[in-house]
Amino acid sequence: MKYVDEFRDPELARRLLAGIEARSTQPVQFMEFCGGHTHAIFRHGLRQMLPPTVQLRSGPGCPVCVTANSELDRALALAQVPDLILTTFGDMLKVPGSYSSLQTAKAEGADVRMVYSTLDALEIARRNPERPVVFLGVGFETTAPTVAAAILQAEGEGLDNFSVLSLHKLTPPATRAILDAGEVNLAGIIGPGHVTTVIGSDAWEFLPREYGIPCAVAGFEPLDILRSVAALVEMAEEGRAEVTNCYSRSVRPEGNPGALEILERVFEVGEADWRGLGSVPASGLSLRPAYSRFDAALAFPVDPGPTREHKGCRCGEVLRGTLEPAECPLFRKKCTPANPIGPCMVSGEGACAAWFRYHR
Ligand code: SF4
Repeated sequence: MKYVDEFRDPELARRLLAGIEARSTQPVQFMEFCGGHTHAIFRHGLRQMLPPTVQLRSGPGCPVCVTANSELDRALALAQVPDLILTTFGDMLKVPGSYSSLQTAKAEGADVRMVYSTLDALEIARRNPERPVVFLGVGFETTAPTVAAAILQAEGEGLDNFSVLSLHKLTPPATRAILDAGEVNLAGIIGPGHVTTVIGSDAWEFLPREYGIPCAVAGFEPLDILRSVAALVEMAEEGRAEVTNCYSRSVRPEGNPGALEILERVFEVGEADWRGLGSVPASGLSLRPAYSRFDAALAFPVDPGPTREHKGCRCGEVLRGTLEPAECPLFRKKCTPANPIGPCMVSGEGACAAWFRYHR
């Protein structure tokens, strides 16, 4: 298969669905970790097409959504540093922190600039040598290598006014945290395609080994996702737990050695605060001491003040898979994409946004 249409072939989809229905005898619930999968599942109506024995639950795989209020508040406090230019991807602008958002801070005079890549942030630093330029590093293992590359580029160019507030997070420890909490009964995990392209399918071997749960790594087209569901159903029916790579056109067992090498060179692993999951050991990335001069957390030790959660927002439960967005009392009422109360309604990968857009 070479072209995207081939991964959307309705006849093949029908055959896969018929196979899943024929094979599935016991009720099972699978979690798609990735917000990209959640949106693809809703956009193509896959939940409704699956037999009633197969349920899907959305997980915490939306980097904007899992950024904790305490982290957002730190970014907001940074934006208030005189002369500082804060650069960020667009999704982060509207996300409400405890008391405000970067969009509001910008409207009130802070120099917050939306960028499309770290290259844009580097260019802003080059053009403003007299001002500190901070890039808000939000994302999983897919984004972090590009940020590491930007830091190496800044080092090579001697761009000393460029720094990164690293809020990057790692996906396997979050999956582990969800399973350890035991709040959702899961018979399998649909592994995130882009993340696994970087970290490799071997990184999910702990799921069958330690939890007895199968994992099927999936791409983002309907047939990719249906194949992963079919593989999980097959394993559940046979009582077998393995890691299956259903996205072999992109994912290798060992991942992307170049991206992993650059990650390892620039970042070290530490504890991180996740919305919904709290503090998760070994789930965040901070800059190694060799690159500490590019660490905005050290360069600007701001006090973000006390954190608070939004009254009534249930994003934490949505991210843990214990609540469907429509079960949140604010969904479609007070909380809409035009007036988001929580990040899951803001982000293009948020589960609440997917439900709002596609689910009737
Ligand atoms: Fe939060 Fe809105 Fe989702 Fe409710 S509907 S969980 S308030 S984002």
